[in-house]
Amino acid sequence: MRVPRGFRFGGVHCGLKPQRRDLALVVSDHPAAAAGVFTKNKAAAAPVQDARPRLPAEGMRAILANSGNANALTGPAGLDDVSVIRTAVADALGIQKRAVLTASTGVIGARLPAMKVVTALPALVEQLGDHPDLAAEAILTTDTRVKMAAREVVLEGKVAVLSAICKGSGMLAPQLATCMCLVVTDAAVAPAALQEALSRSVEKTLNMVTVDGEMSTNDTVYLLANALAGNPRIQGPGPDLLRFETALADLLGEMARAMAADGEGATRMLEVVVEGAPDEAIASDCARAIASSPLVKASLFGADPNWGRVLATVGARAGARGWEIDPLRARVVLQGVTVFARGAPADVDREALRERMRETRVDIQVALEAGPARAVAWGCDLSYDYVKLNADYTSLIVQKPDGGMGRDDRVANYSPTFKRTLLAEALKYIAAFSGEVAVIKYGGAAMVKDSLKEAFAEDVALLKKVGLKPVVVHGGAPEITSTLEKLGERSEFVDGLRVTDAQALPVVEMVLTGKVNQELVALLNARKAGAVGLSGKDGRLLIARKAVFDSGRDLGNLGEVVEVNRDFLRMFLDGGYVPVISPIGLAEDGSSLSINADDVAAALAVALKAAKLIHLTDVPGILDSPDGELVRQLTAEDLVRRLEAGAVTGGMKWKVQSILSALKGGVLRVHVLDGRQPHTVIAELFTDRGVGSLITP
Ligand code: ADP
Ligand code: MG
Repeated sequence: MRVPRGFRFGGVHCGLKPQRRDLALVVSDHPAAAAGVFTKNKAAAAPVQDARPRLPAEGMRAILANSGNANALTGPAGLDDVSVIRTAVADALGIQKRAVLTASTGVIGARLPAMKVVTALPALVEQLGDHPDLAAEAILTTDTRVKMAAREVVLEGKVAVLSAICKGSGMLAPQLATCMCLVVTDAAVAPAALQEALSRSVEKTLNMVTVDGEMSTNDTVYLLANALAGNPRIQGPGPDLLRFETALADLLGEMARAMAADGEGATRMLEVVVEGAPDEAIASDCARAIASSPLVKASLFGADPNWGRVLATVGARAGARGWEIDPLRARVVLQGVTVFARGAPADVDREALRERMRETRVDIQVALEAGPARAVAWGCDLSYDYVKLNADYTSLIVQKPDGGMGRDDRVANYSPTFKRTLLAEALKYIAAFSGEVAVIKYGGAAMVKDSLKEAFAEDVALLKKVGLKPVVVHGGAPEITSTLEKLGERSEFVDGLRVTDAQALPVVEMVLTGKVNQELVALLNARKAGAVGLSGKDGRLLIARKAVFDSGRDLGNLGEVVEVNRDFLRMFLDGGYVPVISPIGLAEDGSSLSINADDVAAALAVALKAAKLIHLTDVPGILDSPDGELVRQLTAEDLVRRLEAGAVTGGMKWKVQSILSALKGGVLRVHVLDGRQPHTVIAELFTDRGVGSLITP
């Protein structure tokens, strides 16, 4: 991703959240013109109250943003805390206090511990670098992925870059849902023009995202323009401002779509285009009404092509507001298929359309034939999760002692019919898997988030109790990276594999075997799972040799499995224990080698003749391209084809390779599941419809 000249970014953990990064800093090395758009909520958070009257302005130098605490409804102390933080940032960077903006997101009504922020500033300033990835991570709350993008625009022969990072999830009402978007550009634009462009672009993009129609106390969009691109400064309306604004709106449009797709509980993203409206206000209102209609959203969750609800919404809106629109003249297109035109339903292949409704993005177009205006809105489906959480919101959302938010996630609120069906289906599978071995590779987001860790531990304990024999192999990449970082070492990855040099190896081993493994064992045994922590060195469980790559690239002490001590592992399984294995192998010379946990899981699954090999990761499964659609079912042959076509990259490439070797070794079913959803392991094993990708020989 391209980043404009003259900006530096950082993101660290300062203790507002239990363990993830929660403090981001964006610095402009030159004074920048600045604009902002804020929530219209009258109960605005302190940082909003602080920044709103100061923008648009010249001479801004820094934005400090935190997640984990909204600093909203915190009384006069809230503004004092903002002031303390602005002073500290100014001192740390050697700039003026007036040049600092702040933004916050997270829990409402709890005082922001400003000292945690101040204490972390030196490390944050130290870390400042050219790429916004860590800053993008640090502003996330309930988001499941980082959102960032960039655009280029040519202004009078000079190429200017705009880049944005953003967070927003918002299925849960305002408490956890906020949009924060930080945009930087090296274009030269005067503050007033910058503000105009930003306000108009936000109107068409971020303001057209609807998840639950709730307005947060903290919504903040900042735009800094430092003029380093060298274009003649844009002072006001004209072709240059138009070009700049087009690029900005395009960038914010991508952010809006990313937010809609990541709405909490959402399984599908919805894009609604309304065209042919009498004016823009009507087009926007209509698009937003469709995207936020509970009936439209519910049918989306059920993959039901129920276009009648779309037209019903249009008709209701037109009737209530007295618009000059005749819904019967409208044309409705669903997933590219015309379903209603010329006043009557069109002939469609319902089965084919239904299949297309299962895709993760659904497009609805409504052509009103009543004028020239057009608008786009984005939303998501209304899932069981949303209803369950919001049906008993205050008792299901709990604040933890450390200030973080958590969920009391039980099926208690489902209907009795649903519970009966679920149980009957589950018991069938429980009977089928009893006595079988399942190797579970535990990685990705499931390893980081407390609520997901707990759900995973419950699942494993439960699997064991119903007679399955789970074997857990864990990774630990995020922990290793952050520990190395604390020790002042950067992690280098080649194609998703860590370069493990002689200095890094003891850290890798300490974190995996000494920390991650032990924590996992404790978590499992708190649920009486009978977990036993093992490294590959124990009992010569994993004999390894240094891995050699086709590319000839030396990745240091990275190993591959040569031999598995199956009898040793069998002894634990027969005794009713759950082996929890850290991916460290023993080389013939007695030294340690770090092994990709995927490879370890595959080798163990083969050695134990496991009925299943399950990968928990941080994507929905195997996707048809690195950010494409989920592929639900594949054969080994399909996988090889996808690998060769370059459709699988990064960490997934190695995972897929290990999966292929497991299939070759006789494992009959391999699953790749989304570890960001709680209890996916149980859902996969005990229900008819799979949740991720299933790979068979
Ligand atoms: P883990 O910690 O679970 O081993 P990795 O980061 O090693 O996760 O591998 C998963 C990553 O692979 C995903 O987050 C995604 O960015 C990347 N990836 C690349 N291509 C694909 C693809 N076709 N399908 C799914 N993920 C992919
Ligand atoms: Mg991996």
